[in-house]
Amino acid sequence: MIKNVVVLGGGSAGFMAAISLKTKAPWLTVRVLRSQDIGVIGVGEGTTVAFPRFLFDYLGVARRDFYARAEPTWKLGIRFLWGPRREFYYTFAKEYEAVLPGLSRPAGFYHDHETQWVGLTSALMAHDKAFPRNPDGSPQLAMPHAFHLENQKLVGWLDGHARRLGVSVEDANVTGAETGPVHTTGREERGVRALVLDDGSRVAADLFVDASGFRSELLGRALEEPYLGFDKSLFCDRAVIGGWERADEVVRPYTIAETMDHGWAWQIEHAHFINRGYVYSSAHTDDDAAREELLRKNPKIPADRTRVVRYRSGRRARNWVGNVVGVGNSVGFVEPLEATALGVIALECIMLADTMVETGGQPGPVLVDLYNQHNTQAWDDIRDFLAAHYAFNTRLDTPFWRHCRDATDLAGAARIVDWYRENGPSTLVKGILIPESNSFGFEGYLAMFVGQKLQYPRERKPAPKEMQAWRQHVAAFAEKARGGMGVMESLRSIHGPGWGKVAR
Ligand SMILES: Cc1cc2nc3c(=O)[nH]c(=O)nc-3n(C[C@H](O)[C@H](O)[C@H](O)COP(=O)(O)OP(=O)(O)OC[C@H]3O[C@@H](n4cnc5c(N)ncnc54)[C@H](O)[C@@H]3O)c2cc1C
Repeated sequence: MIKNVVVLGGGSAGFMAAISLKTKAPWLTVRVLRSQDIGVIGVGEGTTVAFPRFLFDYLGVARRDFYARAEPTWKLGIRFLWGPRREFYYTFAKEYEAVLPGLSRPAGFYHDHETQWVGLTSALMAHDKAFPRNPDGSPQLAMPHAFHLENQKLVGWLDGHARRLGVSVEDANVTGAETGPVHTTGREERGVRALVLDDGSRVAADLFVDASGFRSELLGRALEEPYLGFDKSLFCDRAVIGGWERADEVVRPYTIAETMDHGWAWQIEHAHFINRGYVYSSAHTDDDAAREELLRKNPKIPADRTRVVRYRSGRRARNWVGNVVGVGNSVGFVEPLEATALGVIALECIMLADTMVETGGQPGPVLVDLYNQHNTQAWDDIRDFLAAHYAFNTRLDTPFWRHCRDATDLAGAARIVDWYRENGPSTLVKGILIPESNSFGFEGYLAMFVGQKLQYPRERKPAPKEMQAWRQHVAAFAEKARGGMGVMESLRSIHGPGWGKVAR
């Protein structure tokens, strides 16, 4: 029976795992070991809706405490500077697949060159508003939203919250692991008997969570679980990161994803800082040229405050091996084009903590096999969705983008593309085509296909009467959005006396 858990790693993944386990299975002893010398990756700033749901709905964290200490701003979705349109929006609401009153087909069908937004959320984004306004002047926080977070502040809040729950947090440098047969999952497998620290001491546990980031000390180094690269679908492998102190720029309630010569760049909005990062392919450009392009297009970034991060997209063959469960970058990584990492970590942590609760700390082999199947599928779903971003972006005609259009392996997205090429923005078979468990769902694919103007031969024009009804909806969304509240106004409101109305 699992009673003692050691989490190796004190980045977002390690602390999220420790907090989930201690909150849901308080009988467990949970220790976090992390090396201050190695530090945390220090990036990871946009989330999906899965992250606030994890914090507030699953863990029951007090909103007031989180807002006060982690200082998030809100993200309603992504504004893509991508494909032939000037821009398009992908939100966390269901907008492209919604059938609006007076119309016979999903909204995506009517998204012509005159339309900038297709629902209230994208209209709010287009008007730099975060939320509609309540009659009493407070923001309607119930809109589906995610966060922009500064990684160091997030990790600081997670660290404090873990300690408050009774997790012990210790500085330690792990130099190796003793491996051997274990029976944690009801069958004999190779696992980790103990961690070896640089002072020669050993740390034993019933279960180890490997949250050691790209080093993947346990799953990768000790247990040699194979890493399956996504290289055929995703060609970028580096990012150069920079940013600047906000002056009078409006705080946008969304992330920007902008097409660049050899990849793409994010823009993430914090209250006092704007974070930029250029994700590129080292086969098409080098670090100096990528840095030069980022600085040329963003002259406010101080040239001496950039750094390069290298990565390889992919995942381990299994998340759970013997008595080691991987969480975060130690298991898998894809670039943040949909800012999925913290959301995936949240799902990994929920499943791990629920497994402890439901099995009373005695997981069986079938459960563990399905655990692995579920989590690896989640990574493959992300690869497939990102591939559909790269394969159809016609914005630039550089060698990198030509290569993406010619050579991207759509993998699991191929059938969804075939469906769209035949049927366009139709939701007829969405439940069969894309399972419920897919984080992006049909809405996500519709947003990317309609947004990038993916052609389908049987394209039909809506009747003029329908277009008239559509234009009325678009105008109504805009009117409501114009009366909404911006990010800073909403922050002032929730940190003021109105806060009690919206949060515990
Ligand atoms: C360029 C880039 C942009 C990103 N953008 C986003 C984004 O917008 N949204 C998003 O959700 N995610 C993003 N991510 C991913 C995100 O940063 C991570 O997935 C997330 O922060 C989790 O990191 P981690 O905890 O797995 O690893 P880390 O933060 O690297 O933490 C690893 C921990 O393990 C410890 N450790 C490692 N080895 C040892 C050892 N031998 N002994 C002791 N301790 C050890 C370290 O000290 C550290 O505490 C981005 C990543 C990159 C590279």
